[in-house]
Amino acid sequence: MIAYIRRHLGWKIFLSYMFVILTGILFLRLSAEYVIPTAFEQHLAAMERMMGGMMPGAGNGLETDLFTSFRDAFNQALTRAALAAFAAASLLSLFISSRVVKPVQEMMQASRRIAEGHFRERVQVSGDIEQADELSQLAISFNRMAEQLAQNEALRQRLIGDVTHELRTPLSTIKGSMEGLMDGVLPETAETYQKIYHEADRLARLVEDLQQLSRVEAEAYTLDRKPVQIATLVHRAVGRLGQQYEEKEVGLRVKIPSDLPAVDVDDDRMEQVLMNVVGNALQYTPAGGEVEVSAHREGRFVHVDVRDDGIGVPLEHQPHIFTRFYRVDKSRSRASGGSGIGLTIARYLVEAHGGEIWVESAGRGQGSTFTFSLPVSPE
Ligand code: ADP
Repeated sequence: MIAYIRRHLGWKIFLSYMFVILTGILFLRLSAEYVIPTAFEQHLAAMERMMGGMMPGAGNGLETDLFTSFRDAFNQALTRAALAAFAAASLLSLFISSRVVKPVQEMMQASRRIAEGHFRERVQVSGDIEQADELSQLAISFNRMAEQLAQNEALRQRLIGDVTHELRTPLSTIKGSMEGLMDGVLPETAETYQKIYHEADRLARLVEDLQQLSRVEAEAYTLDRKPVQIATLVHRAVGRLGQQYEEKEVGLRVKIPSDLPAVDVDDDRMEQVLMNVVGNALQYTPAGGEVEVSAHREGRFVHVDVRDDGIGVPLEHQPHIFTRFYRVDKSRSRASGGSGIGLTIARYLVEAHGGEIWVESAGRGQGSTFTFSLPVSPE
């Protein structure tokens, strides 16, 4: 029985009411026994004095009679009050149970169903949301949590779908080429081996990108921030990409004012962002094009612009290109080894520094400008 009560909030509420009522009754009874007779006696004696012996001999007998009938009436009233209080307590605890225990039980069941993988489960929020009490607020938070879980689950499933899709293409090319070689359908030339190598290389890069993505998404890295001149980072990245620019015959200019303040960043991570954005500018700019990297101060931030006159980003794609696996032209990007992860990693890294990254482009063939902001170092 005790174990049963312990597990049920409704019973606990009922018993706590009972306890309060019984305590009240007990104290009333004790007062009736010890306080009222004395007060009664004093009151009657005063009355007798006032009447000045108008009722000789009536004294003690009348007093006892009066007191007995008063006590009976008092006890009767107390019994009725107790019964009414018990009834009210029962009704009230039933009411509170339905208002408190029921929603809690619903939430308990919903959380069990969510744990079993039914992410669409929600609980009902009763009453006006503006004037929500703690229970309704708990229900709102619960639903919000369920929504977030559902979103995470959808993201996870999409990620698995995307990764499978990304892996399938190079794997089937490798498999097809190997089969062709084994059957003697494909010639054993350097070109065939190069094609296979190229696909395997793409797979390796994809796996590396995915590993990095999962690390930045899970924030499983530390930022080693210190004051750095943005020009230093830009020149480092440009130096590493210079040869590829020359080979493709795309011009690369750097225009950074010398009085720019230092930025507060992890230089390795920022170099990674620059390599990605300046590398993309090269990839999506045809031979003969121009790329310019510039920087300027905007309040507490330094803005870095990477402008190219390449293929541009159509307006409808602009909000999506910082989302993983999103590519404007899938076949073109895939052919050049792009996995659509680079800008996603760049966005995470820039945001981890408190900055933002965005693109501006007038549309297809109009070139694009990628800009990211970095906080000025306080020193
Ligand atoms: P990818 O590895 O495919 O380049 P990113 O995440 O770096 O992946 O870029 C995502 C997509 O954004 C690219 O596939 C491309 O469609 C578009 N994009 C990125 N940079 C440029 C650019 N400078 N000009 C035009 N499109 C770009």
